[in-house]
This record gives sequence, C-alpha cells and structure tokens, in this order.
Amino acid sequence: MLQSPVHTLKGVGPRGAEQLSALGIDTIGDLLFYFPFRYEDYAVRRLEEVEHEEKVTLQGTVHTEPELRFYGKKKSRLTIRVLVDGYLVQAVFFNQPFLKRQIHLGEDIVFFGKMNRHRLMVEGAVLKQPTEDGSIEPVYPLKGDLKLYSLKKWIAGALEQYKEDIPEILPERLLETYRLFPRAEACYYLHFPQDMDRFHQARRRMVYEELLQFQLKMQYLRWRSKQSDKGMAKSWDQQQLQAFLGRLPFSLTHAQERVLGEILDDLRAGTRMNRLLQGDVGSGKTIIAAAGMYAAVLSGSQAALMVPTEILAEQHAASLNELFDGMGVSIAHLSGSSGVKKRRETLAALRDGSIDMIIGTHALIQEGVDFHQLGFVITDEQHRFGVQQRRVLKEKGLDPDVLFMTATPIPRTLSITAFGDMDVSTIDEMPAGRKPIETYWAKPDTLPRVLRFIEKQAAAGRQAYVICPLIEESDMLDVQNAIDLHRDIQGALPGLTTGLMHGRLSSDEKETAMQAFASGDTDILVSTTVVEVGVNVPNATVMVIYDANRFGLAQLHQLRGRVGRGSDQSYCILLADPKSDSGKERMAVMTETNDGFELSQRDLELRGPGDFFGHKQSGLPVMKVADIVEDYRTLEAARKDAAALIASDAFWNDPAYEGLRTWLQQQDVFQQAAMD
Ligand code: ADP
Ligand code: MG
Repeated sequence: MLQSPVHTLKGVGPRGAEQLSALGIDTIGDLLFYFPFRYEDYAVRRLEEVEHEEKVTLQGTVHTEPELRFYGKKKSRLTIRVLVDGYLVQAVFFNQPFLKRQIHLGEDIVFFGKMNRHRLMVEGAVLKQPTEDGSIEPVYPLKGDLKLYSLKKWIAGALEQYKEDIPEILPERLLETYRLFPRAEACYYLHFPQDMDRFHQARRRMVYEELLQFQLKMQYLRWRSKQSDKGMAKSWDQQQLQAFLGRLPFSLTHAQERVLGEILDDLRAGTRMNRLLQGDVGSGKTIIAAAGMYAAVLSGSQAALMVPTEILAEQHAASLNELFDGMGVSIAHLSGSSGVKKRRETLAALRDGSIDMIIGTHALIQEGVDFHQLGFVITDEQHRFGVQQRRVLKEKGLDPDVLFMTATPIPRTLSITAFGDMDVSTIDEMPAGRKPIETYWAKPDTLPRVLRFIEKQAAAGRQAYVICPLIEESDMLDVQNAIDLHRDIQGALPGLTTGLMHGRLSSDEKETAMQAFASGDTDILVSTTVVEVGVNVPNATVMVIYDANRFGLAQLHQLRGRVGRGSDQSYCILLADPKSDSGKERMAVMTETNDGFELSQRDLELRGPGDFFGHKQSGLPVMKVADIVEDYRTLEAARKDAAALIASDAFWNDPAYEGLRTWLQQQDVFQQAAMD
C-alpha cells in the first residue's frame, strides 16, 4: 500500500522514518514521489565542448605517475596528467591518497571534476567507473544527517516492492495523445535514469501530470466561479458611452478598443467578471477603467476604483472629475484624511445611491462602507485582488464584477500560472506619438552632472523626479535620506524649487507636495518610492533613481514610467554601482529596452519565477518536477486540456477519468468550494 507509513519499509526503522519525516516524507507514496531536484551528468564528454568551470566527466590515458603531497595530518593532493583527446589534462584529487596505488601509468581512466580551462586542469576530481549506473546520477534535496545513499537505497527498495502499486491517473486518451510513459515507469526512471532518452521521457510525463493537476485546480476554480457567481447582467445605452469616448481629445488605440470590448462583454454577461487587465505604464488603462465604470453607472450600478496609495486616489479622483465634467456623474473620493463630517456625508450618499463612482485606497471596501448597488469594482496597480477582499465583499452580500489592473506586464507563462483562474486582457500597444524614454546608467558620484542636466531641463520648463537611496531596514532612514538629499539639492540648485515627498508626511502634506509638483510650482520632486505607481505628471521629463540596482526590473520600469507621459523627450538616469553580475545585468537591461513585456521576461529569467512577484505575494505553486518557465509549452497544453476536461461531462462521470477526478476531489480547492 502506498499509504503505508514509511517505517514499514525494510531498513528504514524509526530513526530513518524520523529523518524522512523532516523531508515531508511519511508514506511509501511520499517516498516514491520524492524526486531528485537535479542530476549530475556523468556521461563522458569531449574535451573541446567543455566550458570553463563546468563539472565534467572525462576519459583518458594516465600519462604520468601519480604525484602525492600531504598537508598536515589528513590533507593531501594527488596530481596526474591524463592524455584526453590529444591534450594533457592535469587531474587533481584531494584527500584520496589511496589512489596512488590504484592508478597506473598507461591505464585508461574515467574521472569527474570541475574543469579549469585556462590551466587545462580538473580540480576536485574523483574516479568513476566507466558508465557505472548509467551516466546520469540523481541528486536529492537532503536535510539533517540523512545520507544520500540511505535515501537512494530506500527509494530503490520501495520501487522494487511497490512499483506495481503506483496507480495510473491519466486517462488512456491523454497518454496516447502525448505518447507518455505510464506513471510507474516515469516514477522509476526519474529515480534511476538509465539513459538520457528514458530520463527525458520520464520527466516529460511527470511534468505534464504535475502541470495538468495544477491547471485542473485553476480551471476548476474558474469554472466554478462562472457557474455559481451569478453577477448581474448589465445593460446601458451604448450611445451615451460612445458620446463619452467621443469627448476625449484622442481616439483609443486598437488594443484599448479590443480590451474595452472584452470588459463591456463581461459587464453585459450574467456571470461575474473576474478579469485582469495588464498594460505597460502609459498604455492608457485609466481611460479604459473610466469607460467601464461609466457603463456600469449607466446601467444603474455604482462603481468603485481602489488604488494602493492616497496619492493615487487623489490623482484618479481628479482625472475622473475632469473626464466626466458636466456629464451628471457624481464622483466621490473617500480618503483617510477626510474630516469626520465630510466622511459621514459621503458614506450616507454611498448608501442611498446618490454617489455613482467612488475612489479610495484598498481599505475602501473594508471600512464599514455600505453601498446602495455596487456593481463594478476595479483595483488598480495591485497584482492580485486578495481572496480576503473578495470574502469581505461576499460577506457584505455584494457580488460585483471585478477588474484588476496592473502595469507590471506578466510574461505569458506566468500569467497562465498565477492568474490561471482569471480572464486576461492585454493592452499591447502604446498611444501613438510617444517618444521612447532614453535611459542611462551612471555611477552615483556623477550627481553634480545630473543636477546640471536637470537645471537645463528646468530652464526649458520641464520637471524632474529624484528617487532617494533605498534603505530597506528602516523607513526612518529612508525618510532621513530624503530629507538630506532634498536639502543638498536645494543647496546645489538654489534657483529652482525643490519639493519633498516621503512616507512620514501626513496625507495633507503629501497632497500639497504632489499638487505643487503637478501644477509646476516645484521643479524637482525628491521622493522615496511612494511615487512609484500610477502618478501622472506629463510635464516631468527626468527621472533620477538612486541605488537603482536595489530595485527589481519591474519596479524600475514603474518608476521610469513616471516620465515620458507627455510629448517631450524624457530621460531616466539610473545611479548605481552594482557589484553583482545580476545587478549589472539588470542595469544593462534597463538601458536596452523600454518594453515592459520584454523586461518582465528578462526579469523572470534573471530572478526565477519565485522572486518575480516577491516572495509573499507570489502565489506560485511549488513544483516538484516542472519548471514553469522552461516547460511553458507543456503548461499551455495542460491549461487547454484542463479547461476542456473540467467543462466536459465525461470528466465528471466516465470511469476513464476516475484517477484525475478523485485526485481533484481531494484537493483543498475542491473541499473549500464544497463548503462555500
Ligand atoms: P497607465 O496605463 O499607465 O495607467 P494612463 O491611463 O495614466 O496610463 O495614460 C497615460 C497617458 O496617456 C494619459 O495622459 C492619457 O490621457 C493618455 N492616453 C491614454 N490613451 C491614449 C490614446 N489612445 N491616445 C493618446 N493618449 C492616450
Ligand atoms: Mg495607471
């Protein structure tokens, strides 16, 4: 039985069971599915194809007698020269003095170690038997004092005894379509890859299984929310909406048109909208949000726009007021700093329905705010509308359409993964006439030159942001830095007005500082990263970012997106002196591209998927075998298959699908759904 506790396996015992438990292995089944996290390739390689510092296996003829030297009592170094592919390679074995008796002149040997190409030397070498147990050896993550050979022995034992019990869970049809190994075989060859081909086949099978299971959960959630979350079908006078769009000083881009269409279709439909709108900074998401909100309002609903910061709320309230000026839409802004009286009035007006649109921070829906008829909620610049927020809405008896907007373009592979249960709309086109921002990377000590540049821009009537050095440990120090830098710049550029913005200011002070910058009263805004998202001052053309290497690419791109919003040429100057290669690479990437999608793909490659969203927020599943970046083609296939399965009768009834069905029914998502 795969469910049997692991201590029942021969040779494991209570001690072994304890060691395994530390790895999360409690049953025989857990042990069988505890896969290697990487493999050493011990296949003999040709010398010319080996790279510097690569770990390799080489084969050759011993050309010199072993030379053995001792250091202290136990340490030794044994050197031989081996003729490999016509070259003399030096092999260095540490602390294996006994090899002196085992290695003989003229003999053929196979050895493994790290290649130093410059010195044609393999260091830390070990002898290998030619193709001992296959040329690929699994390496398992270990913990505590568990030894690799014990783990391998137990796995081998478990496979021998229970391999036949490993149930197939994929239906015949899928096995045939993709020509996949049976589950038991795949499991076996992942632990004991006999050769590359079988290893790849085994991996391919398990990757598909893992991704299909993952997507089954996602697609189940999506399907279920479509079934059960009956939103309200909205209808409105399309001509009125067109009239609103016609008032704009520009026409929508094709991408904006398409995306707005998708959103309006969702609003019209009787199912609840659960959609992500992604579009690069400056691609024009706000107007799409406004049009969607207007449609909802025309249909008799209220609409709410939630943003992460007070500054943004302020700014969005201002732009919506401008957009809907004279159109009879009543717009309110609920802020932490509204006085008690004003607040009470706003809340009452929300309750009786005399307010059509409300703008506030994400706390908006939580602050005991009641709505008359909330039909549409948009959250801006947040990766994900928390499950918790959704619950808050539900508890209030509200089931509005929800749209999430993000300016962090998510590579397709990740959007499938992280947002698999949502519909995704993408604005992949910039409004015409934008000049690409020029980005430069300079050392921090070039600040005086940068300031002269700002002076010139200011003389031409432009404005600049200067983002302060970031001190992660303490926002107190951040603030101090901002204050110091503000004073320094004021001292250096007495002819200009320099404003200051940081997180310790009261919301009134922030608003004043932002207003002064937006209206052009201040030329330079020294700020911590609070201006990161969404802020829109088209006259600002210079963005200077201190310690740029401390930021991720997504965040840098966000900051850069604060400029280039008008018709003038804009500049982004990264002040950074990164020591690490990845830091240097990030700076270089920033100077190379303005395209958020490309950046996000590079970011993903540089940092890996786990870091992409930041740890806490990631919401990415931990994969045993699959790599969601590398295996994205399989991921796409799995997504399609899972969606089709979930929507089919056969999946829920046919015995062929029992394995997968039972598996899904045991998952948290299913159990939770059953309880809702
Ligand atoms: P983001 O997607 O970053 O939120 P915004 O919605 O703030 O971008 O739009 C950036 C600027 O582009 C705004 O000043 C907006 O008025 C303008 N804009 C939006 N759509 C268009 C368009 N189709 N043509 C020209 N300008 C546009
Ligand atoms: Mg925006």
